[in-house]
Amino acid sequence: MIYLDNAATTKVSPEVLETMTPYFSDVYGNPESIHSAGRKAAKAIEKAREQVAVPIGADPSNIIFTSGGSEANTLAIVGLADYLKSVGRTHIITTKVEHHSVLNAIKSLFDSGFEMTWLDVDRDGDIPPERVAEAMRENTGLVSIMAVNNEIGNRYPIERIGEICRSAGALFHTDCVQAYCGTNIDVDLSCIDFLSASGHKVHAPKGVGFLYARHKEFLRSVIHGGSQEYELRGGTHNVPYIVGLGKAAELSHAEWLHDTYAYGKKVGAIRNGVLSQLSGVYVNGTPHYNSKTLNLRFDDVDGETLLMLLDSKGVEVSAGSACSAHYAVPSHVLSAIGLTEDEAISSIRVSVSQYTTGEEIEEAIRLIVDSVNQLRGG
Ligand SMILES: *Cc1c(COP(=O)(O)O)cnc(C)c1O
Repeated sequence: MIYLDNAATTKVSPEVLETMTPYFSDVYGNPESIHSAGRKAAKAIEKAREQVAVPIGADPSNIIFTSGGSEANTLAIVGLADYLKSVGRTHIITTKVEHHSVLNAIKSLFDSGFEMTWLDVDRDGDIPPERVAEAMRENTGLVSIMAVNNEIGNRYPIERIGEICRSAGALFHTDCVQAYCGTNIDVDLSCIDFLSASGHKVHAPKGVGFLYARHKEFLRSVIHGGSQEYELRGGTHNVPYIVGLGKAAELSHAEWLHDTYAYGKKVGAIRNGVLSQLSGVYVNGTPHYNSKTLNLRFDDVDGETLLMLLDSKGVEVSAGSACSAHYAVPSHVLSAIGLTEDEAISSIRVSVSQYTTGEEIEEAIRLIVDSVNQLRGG
């Protein structure tokens, strides 16, 4: 199979798996324990904390390990609610193209007296920073805008948005799950107060991630338990997965520094290959130069049918976002960029990883072109 759904999840890299393995069977202590087995586990977690902090220029003491990106987003948003109320800043700004974990965390605050502004994106998928500035009110407490969109690959101007938030006295949270270790992110240069990342998008396992929190003191835990993670995330640490996340961050960051255009080149090859051989094909959104994601729309083709046909030929892609794949609704992101329902359901998403080879790309282009021609009755 040619796996081109890396925006949904990635495989665990062999080095990551190897690094994790001893933490299941040999170093299995509880990091809260005082004895040496516990201390060894605690030390491994502190090493991982340093490893994950490097790619975003963060201080390791501001990293809170979570069960993934969704929990990190929830902790940042729901975990700030009490603080925002206490300072009378109950207006939240976000966009219409965020991941569901951000959208639904913000919606969950609706009944607690928060007001929300859902920013529109342009037809090209972009959000000019001025739009954020214009939406800012005196009582805006939190702005949550993702760094890279998981469906169309646009990168939002988080550097400018961070500045705008800082000067307005609002906190800035960014869902960096798709940007982590693949684009330039620096929490200080971009005035980022909170940042979410997930392991399984960077070749670590599913079920681990972290929240960077510049202001831990503003947060309240959403998972209650013991004193783990500065009392901000109860529950015994998932030591092997955290170790795996640390290793994956180190490797993925090194890979990106080694070739900052690696994804972009692969995605560009698919784009050029498909667009040059087929008519009636369009790119949805404006993927950034090193996007691993390409969203394509085909005239007179049903995206889900194309997905199934490609699957039967050995190419795995997605139609819309994996998170909404069980519902026959057009993706909220494609609707937000102004596509009609028909246009949205004529779209597929392909996304590459560091393991996607040139041969796989050539083969995938050929099969996409063949399949579209077949469905169009050519
Ligand atoms: C995958 C993803 C998430 C969710 O991360 P999980 O670890 O699966 O909970 C959040 N935001 C974006 C942009 C994502 O792509």
